[in-house]
Amino acid sequence: MDEMRKLVDRLNEYAYRYYVLDDPAVSDAEYDALYDELLALEKSEGRVLDDSPTRRVGGRPLSGFSQVRHLGRLYSLDKCKSTEELKAWLAKLGSDGRLPRCSVEYKFDGLTINLTYRGGKLVRAATRGDGVIGEDVTEQVRTINSVPLSIPYTGTVEVQGEGIMRLSALAKYNSDPDVVPLKNARNAAAGAIRNLDPGETAKRRLEVVCYNVNYIEGKTFARGSEMIAFLKEQKFKVSDYYLLTDSADRITEALSDIEKRRPDLDFLIDGAVVKVDDLAIRDELGYTEKFPRWAMAYKFAAEEMTTVVRDVVWQVSRTGKLNPLAVLDPVDIGGVTVSRATLNNYSEIARKGIMIGSRVFVRRSNDVIPEITGVAENGPDCREITPPDVCPACGAPVERQGVFVFCTNKDKCEPALVSRFSHFVSRDAMDIEGLSDKTLELLYSEGKIENFADLYSLTADDLVGMEGFKDKKISNILAAIEKSKHTELKRFLFALGIPNIGKKAAQQLADAFGSLEAVMAADEQALEALDDFGSVMAAGTVAFWRDEKNVKEVKDLIAGGITFEKAKKSEGAFSGRKVVLTGSLSGYTRGEAKKLIEERGGEVADGVSKSVNLVVAGEAAGSKLDKARKLGIEVIDESEFEKMLAL
Ligand code: NAD
Repeated sequence: MDEMRKLVDRLNEYAYRYYVLDDPAVSDAEYDALYDELLALEKSEGRVLDDSPTRRVGGRPLSGFSQVRHLGRLYSLDKCKSTEELKAWLAKLGSDGRLPRCSVEYKFDGLTINLTYRGGKLVRAATRGDGVIGEDVTEQVRTINSVPLSIPYTGTVEVQGEGIMRLSALAKYNSDPDVVPLKNARNAAAGAIRNLDPGETAKRRLEVVCYNVNYIEGKTFARGSEMIAFLKEQKFKVSDYYLLTDSADRITEALSDIEKRRPDLDFLIDGAVVKVDDLAIRDELGYTEKFPRWAMAYKFAAEEMTTVVRDVVWQVSRTGKLNPLAVLDPVDIGGVTVSRATLNNYSEIARKGIMIGSRVFVRRSNDVIPEITGVAENGPDCREITPPDVCPACGAPVERQGVFVFCTNKDKCEPALVSRFSHFVSRDAMDIEGLSDKTLELLYSEGKIENFADLYSLTADDLVGMEGFKDKKISNILAAIEKSKHTELKRFLFALGIPNIGKKAAQQLADAFGSLEAVMAADEQALEALDDFGSVMAAGTVAFWRDEKNVKEVKDLIAGGITFEKAKKSEGAFSGRKVVLTGSLSGYTRGEAKKLIEERGGEVADGVSKSVNLVVAGEAAGSKLDKARKLGIEVIDESEFEKMLAL
C-alpha cells in the first residue's frame, strides 16, 4: 500500500476513536504530527485522497442520535504553533502595515455545541459533526445549568459554544472508587454529551461557554465583539477572558500571558484563538473548505502524550506507604523528557486498567508530577501489576490498608525514615538548609541520626571525616541547625509529620490553640470544630499524641533547645480584605498575584460575592467585573494594584 494511503487509514482510524467513540488511541500532539506529515505529502505529490482527513471537518455522527442540519455551517480553525507563523498571518490581514482590530480568546478544549433558539426557547442542541450535519443532543444539553432554556431574543438564532468539564469536576468524579476514571476533561465532556442517557450528562456537571452567533434572524452585527455583548445580554456564559486590540505585539504578549496562566485555570485550553473583529473584513477574507481565513488558533505545547509502561517500582514514603511509580519509555512532553509517573495507589492502577506493557496517556502540567491518566492500548503481552509481599527497601512484610500498601517496619525502614527527616528539615517545616536527602541518608547510615532530636546534638566531631563533609559544609550545616531552633509553632507542628496535618492545618492548630501544650491536649471535639478539620484528621491528631514515642520525641526536641516565636499574622496593604482577581495582569500570573496578596495579609477568593471587598481587574476582565460593579465593590486596575503592593 502506498504511504499516503497508509497515513490516511491510520489518521481515519484515530479520528474515529476520537470523534465517534470519544476514546482516543493517541494524544492530540501525536495526531497533529501525523496530520502535518500527511499535509506535506499531499502538497509534494499534488494529490489528495477522497477520504483524506484534510478534506473534512470533524467526524461522522453516531448512529444512536438523530441527525440535524445546522442553519449556519460550522468550521474548524486553522492552526499555528509559533509567534512567527502567527505574525506572518497577521501581516497578511492588514493593509498599509495596519492590523485590523482582533480579538484574542481562549481556545477551550472541549466539544462544540450548537444551540438553536426559536421564539426565545431552546429548541435544539447539536454537536458539530461534519460541520453541516451534527447529532441531536438536546436532551443531554438541557441538563447543563449554564445553558439558558429561554432567552429574551425571540428571533431564530444559533449560538455556538464549547462544552467543557471543569478540572475540579473531573477530579471529583474520578475520586469515586466505583467509577472507571475518565481519561481527561476533553474526552469526559465529549463522552458526557454524546451519551444516550442524559442522566449521565447531568452527573458530569458540564458547562457551555459561548463564543459565537452563527446564525441570526432579525438582527445584524457589525463586529464579533458585538456578538459577545449580545450573548452576555441574553445571559449565556461567556469567557472571562476576551481581549480586543489592533497591535500585533499586544497579541503575542497576550498569548504568552495566557500560556503562563494555563496551569492555574480550572479548565483545559489547548491554545488561544485570534479573530478579526470586523464582520465586513471577515466576509472579504472568506473561508476555505475547512476553516475561516479570518481566525487562527495558536496552539500551545502539548501537555499529554502516549508512551509505554516498562516497569513499576514501589517507593517507601515517610508514613511507610509504598507508592507505585511507573517507569516509562522516555517521552518528550512539551519540551520536557518524562520517564516516570506517579500511579497513586494500587486501586487506581486497577481502575485505570494499567499493566506493564500498556501504552498509556501521560499528562504533565507545569507544577504537577506527571500523571498517567489512562490506557490507550493493552497489547497481548501485557502483564498485571501486583503489589509486593515484602517491602522492597527493608524486606519486612507489607500490610494492606484499603487501597494502600504499607511497610510494617516503618520506624526502622531507611527510606521512610530519611523522608521523615527530609520533611522535618524542609523549607516550610524547620527550614534547615544544606541537609539534602543524600546527606540525611549518609547521616542515618552512619548512625548519627535516628530521632529528630539527634539533629540538635550533632557536633563538628560527629561530622568530620564523613565522605564529602568539608569544614565549610560542616559549619554551614551546624549553623543552619542552630538557626532553626528558634522557630514558629506552625512550622514545628508541620515538621512532626502528624498524619494528614499539612501546612494549612498546622497553621490552624497553631492559631487556634496558641501553644504546643494546648495543641497536645486538644480533644477530638475541639479539633473538629476547626475549619476544614474532619473526623479523620481530628482522630489522627489525637492518636498521634497518645503515642508515647511521639510525646518523647517532642520533649527531647524542646530539651534540645527548640523555642517558638510569637506567631505574627501577616500584615500589610491587603490585611482583612477578601480579594478577587479577574482578567489578565501583564506582570503577574494568577498564582503570583495570589501569593503577593496573601503575603500582605489578604485572602483571595474565586468568585465575586457580597463578602468580597476588592476586585483587581486586569485586561479583558469579564463577568466577575460586571458583578463587582453591580454589587458596588471597589475595583482597582493593575497600576493601582502595583501601588498597593509597594505600600
Ligand atoms: P480544533 O478543535 O482544534 O479547533 C476548532 C474548534 O475549536 C471549534 O470547533 C470550537 O469548538 C473550538 N473552540 C474553542 N474555543 C474557541 C473559540 N474561542 N473560538 C472558536 N472556536 C473555539 O479543530 P478540529 O478540527 O475541530 O479538531 C482537531 C483537533 O482534534 C486537534 O486538536 C486534534 O489533535 C484533535 N484530534 C485528535 C485525535 C486523536 O486521536 N487524539 C483525532 C482527531 C482529532
